[in-house]
Amino acid sequence: MKKADRADLYVDALYLWDDRTQLYKLSEECAELIVAINNFLKKIKLANLYDKTEADQIKSTGEAVQKGLELMEEIADVEIMIEQARLMCGDGKINKFKDFKLNRLKNLIEKEKNEKSS
Ligand SMILES: [Mg+2]
Repeated sequence: MKKADRADLYVDALYLWDDRTQLYKLSEECAELIVAINNFLKKIKLANLYDKTEADQIKSTGEAVQKGLELMEEIADVEIMIEQARLMCGDGKINKFKDFKLNRLKNLIEKEKNEKSS
């Protein structure tokens, strides 16, 4: 769906369910994402530790793929709610915070690279 169409959809959502309800929904989706991340990581970890046979490897790989799909679904849910939250808050301050934090990340990466190369 195009960004303009999503924006129309979000305006409709915010009209039907107020800001407070949508912020609770964002919180709920963040919690679901945390669970999905942990389930995926646990599945990957267990697959590495306990797979003895090829059949076990195939089974755990399938389970890991399933958990990966659940993770991606929750990422999509959170992105949808974040986009609505952006509409509520406005982009200005969020973009400023984001720029600041991206610059901080860039500096951290450069520092780590320099330390590893020296
Ligand atoms: Mg969800």
